[in-house]
Amino acid sequence: MTTRIDRALGSDFGAAGGDSLGAAVEFMSLSQIRQAYGRDGIQEPDAFYGFPAFCITDDTQQAIALGEGLITAIGDGLSVDGIRRGVWSSLKRWHQSQGIPNQRRAPGSTSMSSLSRDLPGSIETPLNRSDSCGSVMRAHPVGILYAGHPEAAYEVGIETAVLTHGGILGRSAAGMLAVIVSELCVGKDLRQSYATAERIVRNEIGIDPLLALTRRAMELEPAPAVTAESGLGQGWEGHDALAIGLYAARCHEREYLAAVRLAANHDGDSDSTASIAGALIGARLGLASIPRSWYQRLERRADIARVANVLSVVEPVSAKLPVQ
Ligand SMILES: [Mg+2]
Repeated sequence: MTTRIDRALGSDFGAAGGDSLGAAVEFMSLSQIRQAYGRDGIQEPDAFYGFPAFCITDDTQQAIALGEGLITAIGDGLSVDGIRRGVWSSLKRWHQSQGIPNQRRAPGSTSMSSLSRDLPGSIETPLNRSDSCGSVMRAHPVGILYAGHPEAAYEVGIETAVLTHGGILGRSAAGMLAVIVSELCVGKDLRQSYATAERIVRNEIGIDPLLALTRRAMELEPAPAVTAESGLGQGWEGHDALAIGLYAARCHEREYLAAVRLAANHDGDSDSTASIAGALIGARLGLASIPRSWYQRLERRADIARVANVLSVVEPVSAKLPVQ
């Protein structure tokens, strides 16, 4: 039987594996990827920016930081204020680490500029209107913590997104990813988990493009590659990154490798889309779906495992929202 801990490890390592697969091709078009890696595109993590294969990028660095911030907030009783404080402090430490050349892995500009400030953004006082995918690619640890509590996952997903990303689409996409992972972590399938997310976000104002794209991702015919005809965007924005990740996971709901390969080989933001696909399919199938030869070689695998292990043994709420 696949347990909550196993699904949490699957999600956290699944995301990191997808990130490392997409790293080398993040800024390449699909035709450039095929020129470099052959007709099927990149299949295994490769060296990038002078770092060896199986290194992670800013996506996983920030996901670890967010997870560590949540762990800090456990000591504060997981109040919304405690979560905001813990995650902001942890992301600020990540931002400081970007001054060290060998820690810099093409960090997203919205995160970098927001985290250079003294105070975080909030729903009432957003720092910017950015919908970029930086808020989504780091959101799966929220779903791991709030397994089986999708409403709380959504609220905390938004609160942690808006620390740096003020756009409504980006923050709601982060909340949706947290919801879907929270449902997958208790054994629901992708369709059931998406339906929960759709129900929770349906009444939000201004998110029609997010709903339209993710619904398309859930309904589109499976194809060998995500192309312009897919109509899912390129993953630079939070809503299209979530859509591509969902689509790849849905097309290969029984096979981790096929899902992250589909999500990495396209014209756009390959590390983020493959990370999101990996977070989803890993939560769906558990750690055993990821090749041991991948997760045992990932940079910072001890931190990735610790975040998943700690967050998945906490019972954060008894089916109620975190206390203000
Ligand atoms: Mg990256």
